[in-house]
Formats: sequence, structure tokens, C-alpha cells
Amino acid sequence: MSVERILAGKGRHVETISPSHTLQEAAKVLAAKRIGAVVVASSDHAVLGILSERDIVRAIASDPARLNNPVSDFMTEKVVTCGLKTSIPEIMDEMTSGRFRHLPVVVEGRLSGLISIGDVVKYRVAEIEAESNAMRHYIASA
Ligand code: AMP
Repeated sequence: MSVERILAGKGRHVETISPSHTLQEAAKVLAAKRIGAVVVASSDHAVLGILSERDIVRAIASDPARLNNPVSDFMTEKVVTCGLKTSIPEIMDEMTSGRFRHLPVVVEGRLSGLISIGDVVKYRVAEIEAESNAMRHYIASA
């Protein structure tokens, strides 16, 4: 099972924002789409950064006026990404060691999807259920 398979189920659309949009505009996107992070991308779909709800909370905790500042002031620029062939255990390792919950998928320099920790949990639960059903079936038919 790889990233490609998860994307086949959830689709490849990713919410993006430009670095010059304000933090408030980014917050509106997160609220309207009920998501936890937005990828900051160029018009040709290159990943320039990522902005999560945590970045917004950190930015406005000391100064709410920062909501008018550009996203580029608060985004994480060094984004860890993955490819279509990346395995789920690799994704879990990246998220655990990097302490983040979102991994953009990049193919030939272009943003091509996003895997969230929710997608990984959903996949793991389905996998564990399938294993348990197979085991039950095996025991019942033995
Ligand atoms: P998250 O847990 O994804 O909400 O993000 C926690 C922190 O990690 C925030 O500062 C994000 O900007 C940053 N972050 C999220 N995803 C990534 C990623 N794939 N690569 C690098 N930093 C990230």
C-alpha cells in the first residue's frame, strides 16, 4: 500500500493559498474547508511552504494584529514532501519524527495530493480490520 492508493480513494485536490494572502484569509480557508493546514503554492503548483492551524495560533497568541500579515511571514518553508510510491510506514515515520500531521505529495515538482494523519489512521484501521477478519475466517474454517 502506498500514497498512490490512498490518493485513488480520496482524490488529488489540495487546498492552496498564495504567500501574499493574509493570515486571516488563510484562517478563513481552514475554517470553510474544515481542514488543519493549507499548502502555500505558486501559480505553477510548486510547493513554497505549508501553513497549519498551529502556525496561526502561534502567530496571533502574542499579537492578533498579525492576522493582517502575509502568510509568507509564518509558513514553514522547508516542507517535507513524499512521492506516489512512498509507503505508509515511511509516511508514519516522517510524521512522527517531524511532529507534523500533513505531507504534501509532489510529482515532477508539482503538488499532486496531500496525505493527512487522518488518512493514515483510516488506512491503518482498515488494514487491521482486514487482518482480523482474515484471521477469524481462517480459524472458523480450520
Ligand atoms: P501540523 O501538525 O501539520 O498541523 O503542523 C505542525 C507544524 O509543522 C507547523 O509549524 C507546520 O507549518 C509544520 N508542518 C506541517 N506539515 C509539514 C511538512 N510536511 N513539512 C514541514 N513542516 C510541516
